[in-house]
Amino acid sequence: MHVNLYALFESRFPKKRDETFLQLKDGEGFCYADLERYSSQIANRIVNNGVRPGDRVMVQVEKSPLAVFLYLACLKAGVIYIPLNTAYRADELEYLYHDAEPRLVVCSPQSPFLDETFDFLPSTNVLTLDSAGDGTLSDSLDAVSAEFETVEPDADAIAAILYTSGTTGKPKGAMLTHANLASNALALHSLWGFRTDDVLLHVLPIFHTHGLFVGINTTVLNGSKMIFLPGFNTRDIIKSLPRATVMMGVPTFYSRLLRDSRFDRSQCAHMRLFISGSAPLTNKTFTAFQARTGFAILERYGMTETNMITSNPLNGGRVAGSVGKPLSGVQIRICGQGGCIINQGEIGDIEVRGPNVFQGYWRNPDKTLTEFRDDGFFKTGDLGYIDESGYLYIVGRSKDLIISGGFNVYPKEIESVLNRIDGVNESAVIGVPHRDYGEGVIAVVVGDRPNAGYFLVDDIICEAKQHLAGYKVPKKVYFLDELPRNAMGKVEKARLREIHRDAFADMG
Ligand code: AMP
Repeated sequence: MHVNLYALFESRFPKKRDETFLQLKDGEGFCYADLERYSSQIANRIVNNGVRPGDRVMVQVEKSPLAVFLYLACLKAGVIYIPLNTAYRADELEYLYHDAEPRLVVCSPQSPFLDETFDFLPSTNVLTLDSAGDGTLSDSLDAVSAEFETVEPDADAIAAILYTSGTTGKPKGAMLTHANLASNALALHSLWGFRTDDVLLHVLPIFHTHGLFVGINTTVLNGSKMIFLPGFNTRDIIKSLPRATVMMGVPTFYSRLLRDSRFDRSQCAHMRLFISGSAPLTNKTFTAFQARTGFAILERYGMTETNMITSNPLNGGRVAGSVGKPLSGVQIRICGQGGCIINQGEIGDIEVRGPNVFQGYWRNPDKTLTEFRDDGFFKTGDLGYIDESGYLYIVGRSKDLIISGGFNVYPKEIESVLNRIDGVNESAVIGVPHRDYGEGVIAVVVGDRPNAGYFLVDDIICEAKQHLAGYKVPKKVYFLDELPRNAMGKVEKARLREIHRDAFADMG
């Protein structure tokens, strides 16, 4: 597809442009006419600041309507949009700045981009935007023309570079074209049966593929409305759900909702779909959510580099523990060592090919080369298997695979056993150095009450021994009040490995 993504969106805007696009918590609203006006005015403003098609605009701002219009303005102007995690601090920003070499930075008025660390950065190359929509990006915007002709991109024009959240190593910039994003938005829009009267409850951050592309792109393509909240807050969700039809979340959103006794099916009467992704949804959460609300959460799987890859179906079998089947036009395969395709049902590396897959890592051709096979398949770094019905199951990241005494241990298998135990809320299984086995298996467990560990440790070992081969049974169990997670709800296993690296050091 050789079209500006914004132009594709525009072709689907509601005929009546006064229909609501964003509804904020305080009742303020922005309609599609506002979207068109602001994105054209912002496009003019950034172009007036010397930004040209193909240039990069680096953006680290709080979630706000103007931030959404800035994203759309970049698409319109054929400029490469680089959203950054709002948690990044000065050192990380310095690295990313030098890696991306943006023509323009848009940041909060308190940003390190405005400190002495960046004194080499000319002030004309920085604009500010705060969560209320104020700053030099939006100052006197009314005086700026609301006419802007959408730029026609080349076939392989990059629309965005997203730095991967990678829990280890330096972030890498994944280059995504207009065509990559368009293909995924169209596939999800059709698969999840979007209707013009849909209202998406948007509570995710907008610097990540989930909240930005899955959430916003499908809504704009649908020409419909979002209830646009700054972040996850159980009380606000409970208040907003009766006006929404679709919610997208990470699994922790759903487990947090379940912990609130006020949350029940009465608020979900108007809902048609709850979608989960970015981290594994446990069977426990899936089942408890279904019992409480009557809804089977639809789990999907994707990553920054590939957009969405698989999804459970809208109608029919949503399988707990599975991430479903490939989206239309997307191919997946499971490979063993050396890239050979392995038998159905066996665990191996998940590889993906399709119009959704990114063009490579920004200024990192070596890394790009090692992550792609010659036939165009991308190595996701996830391990999984496909069942006889074609459903994909993820068993973990390959770098989290534990090799203990020469045996492969897949953390998810053990976590699933532990999570079923009464009193266990969730668990993370990791491997740490062990003198005899190379790596020893340990479990980090979150109980459902204070001091749960005191009651649970015997149950955990006993249950694990009953269901798992001896080499998979955790040799040590630790208890935490909460698992460490990143902004997208992913458990930070590298951090847990670091904390527990000496767990077996006392073995002499
Ligand atoms: P990111 O690039 O930050 O979106 O992270 C992508 C990674 O998140 C994938 O490679 C998976 O390891 C993980 N992930 C995404 N969706 C799921 C899911 N539904 N179940 C399990 N892991 C997931």
